[in-house]
Amino acid sequence: MLDAVVVGGGAAGLTLATRLATDGWGDRRVLVVDEAPLDHDRSADRSWGWWSAQDGPVEAAAERAYDSVAVVTDRATRLVDLAPYRYRVVSLRALRDVAATAVARTCGIEIVRARATAVVDGRDGARVVVDGETVEAAWVFDSTGTWPGRRPGARGPRPAGAGHRMEFTGWQVHTDRNVFDPGTAVLCDARLPCGRAAFVHVLPQDRRTALVEHTAYVPSGVLGPTPTEVGRELTAYLRGVLAAGRFRVGRVEHGTIALRPQAPHRRGRRVLAIGAAGGLVRASSGYGFGAIQRDAAAVVRSLVEHGHPFAVPHRPWRHRWLDTVFLRVLAREPAVLGPAFVAMFGGDDPLRVLRFLDDGTTWADGARFVRGLPVRPFLRALRPGGPGGPGGPGGGVEEHLLDAGVPRDEASFGLVRDPLDVIGGAAVRELDLRGHEQPAGAEHGRHEHRDGLHPWQ
Ligand SMILES: Cc1cc2nc3c(=O)[nH]c(=O)nc-3n(C[C@H](O)[C@H](O)[C@H](O)COP(=O)(O)OP(=O)(O)OC[C@H]3O[C@@H](n4cnc5c(N)ncnc54)[C@H](O)[C@@H]3O)c2cc1C
Repeated sequence: MLDAVVVGGGAAGLTLATRLATDGWGDRRVLVVDEAPLDHDRSADRSWGWWSAQDGPVEAAAERAYDSVAVVTDRATRLVDLAPYRYRVVSLRALRDVAATAVARTCGIEIVRARATAVVDGRDGARVVVDGETVEAAWVFDSTGTWPGRRPGARGPRPAGAGHRMEFTGWQVHTDRNVFDPGTAVLCDARLPCGRAAFVHVLPQDRRTALVEHTAYVPSGVLGPTPTEVGRELTAYLRGVLAAGRFRVGRVEHGTIALRPQAPHRRGRRVLAIGAAGGLVRASSGYGFGAIQRDAAAVVRSLVEHGHPFAVPHRPWRHRWLDTVFLRVLAREPAVLGPAFVAMFGGDDPLRVLRFLDDGTTWADGARFVRGLPVRPFLRALRPGGPGGPGGPGGGVEEHLLDAGVPRDEASFGLVRDPLDVIGGAAVRELDLRGHEQPAGAEHGRHEHRDGLHPWQ
């Protein structure tokens, strides 16, 4: 019997493998299985943005780091010095290198390319079917949703478009003039000319090159913006708001993050769900990478100190409830997004929101944080009726609170080989980035659900 099997070698699986190797389990026999080709160039371009005050190997592997972030609306700009945090971007390629280096120093941890098709919990161990072979292990960590949880049948794929989600499209933009501030990541610029809860996220590389990302909160049962709408809005933002002049678009990325405030059934007898499957993605923000880092450290600490992996912090219920209310507010009153973001980063302690998103705030902190938000929309959201609310059309956050399904997050990557000069016709080509069938729900030229590349690099 193995000491552990880690199912999935993405953000959570690789982070856990690294921690197991470095924090006291290097002499154990652990198998990490991931179905994606390890040398798959396009998926290795996937990356995660997160803030951290640590200085570990994952932080060191980050390709980009910012000391400040900006939050912008048409009424206010908040420039926030992040110290002691930095906002970093790390790629899957770099995360794989970090894990490979750590694992190479152990005698028993192995990362292999294989597909897991079943995880069965047991009293003394769990079984995983890996490429048709049954493997037994004392502990199984599942980041893929292969384990059905405590409610068999509750997990697995959901229909495209079901559930609140964040849809994003990122353009790698090159401008002819200096437009961007390479020291500052724009976390949220709400000056996007559209009537929905959407914002632009900008990660500059230099003064003329940046990832410019259109990010929309899409309520349950509602279609997200079409590629044409996104193209028009991003073009209007670059030209009208940033006055970028001529620009070219290189790589284009699409992605969808399921936003689920509910606590998942993450713990079995010998199985622990990790990553997005373990409910670590924050429903109000779509961020999960920082939580995944902290969770992996806590899991290994628990294994070493208690002989089991379950002594890990849980997200406080009040944070899940606030996320629920926030999604309901956005579904009903999308215009609240900008003022809410500015309020969150305002006040006496602009970094409180980062601690809140990291589940690190106390009750008192939380109360101060909530006090800064626009009050009326939040009070209205507590009443039933209206989109996204209980009993309202499209209504949904509550549906999520009852549904313990695993987020069907997928990322794929696209490269526009011939950079697209949008200055002339402002046309944005529709790209089938996944190279196979249109997603379910794509009707009348609208893509109800577009899986794609990463969101928040
Ligand atoms: C497109 C996208 C972008 C995101 N960007 C950010 C970000 O920038 N910052 C942030 O904080 N959060 C981000 N998130 C939220 C969250 O951090 C990510 O979803 C994160 O990747 C979750 O880690 P994970 O390990 O659970 O899933 P993944 O990283 O997706 O890893 C799952 C792995 O399991 C493998 N796998 C799946 N099924 C099987 C199987 N049956 N057998 C074997 N292997 C299997 C897959 O190949 C994959 O490598 C993003 C989410 C999405 C969907």
